Amino acid sequence: MNDDNIRRNSLSNLVIPAPTQHTIPVGDDGEFPVRRVYCIGRNYAAHSIEMGDDPDRDPPFFFQKNPNNLIASDEFIYPSKTNDVHYEIEMAVALKSGGTNISVEDALDHVYGYAPCLDMTRRDLQGEAKKKGRPWEIGKAFERSGPIGPLQTVSEVGHPDQGRVELLVNGEVQQEGDLNQMIWKVPEMISYLSDYFELAAGDVIMSGTPAGVGPIVKGDTMVVNIGGLESLTVKVI
Ligand code: MN
Repeated sequence: MNDDNIRRNSLSNLVIPAPTQHTIPVGDDGEFPVRRVYCIGRNYAAHSIEMGDDPDRDPPFFFQKNPNNLIASDEFIYPSKTNDVHYEIEMAVALKSGGTNISVEDALDHVYGYAPCLDMTRRDLQGEAKKKGRPWEIGKAFERSGPIGPLQTVSEVGHPDQGRVELLVNGEVQQEGDLNQMIWKVPEMISYLSDYFELAAGDVIMSGTPAGVGPIVKGDTMVVNIGGLESLTVKVI
């Protein structure tokens, strides 16, 4: 590993100005620095069925968003090059530590907190990519594609593993489920990811969406309610 090089470079001899460390707010406590964003696909059986897949307990799969796609804002800017942007309500899991080969039993020790968020998706572009066997980034990892609510600490909210999950658009329920319907539970996701990647403080895992995904248009207002977490309201502009 070349950790020493990374550390030295971050201090003294950069050849261009360092990019800003992206953060998301933790109430009045401060800011959580984001390192990586992992998103699980099809983690609620009913959503798996609506996307045309068998909800059996196949191994989970993940894609990534960019750290600075997570935006704590009450506005979502309708993105370019698409006519079919979908909401996906998700609970985000923020890590305060990490490692490799983390056991399911130890996994929750690495969690800093939880936040309501949205995995906004250019569904038309994702669909084309799927059809051609291409990566999903063009559909998933665009600017501001992850509206996220206030991060709430484990000491405030514990480890939510049950509770109603609902997304409202203009006051009407469009997605609903329960955190207890996740096919892969939060400790299992952390453990699985840590077998393939080195997890670390600052990593965020988006834990999948229940059934009912659909399109939004400019002017819509989305409300994200997840278990006992503070809710998130986002207007599409
Ligand atoms: Mn998703």
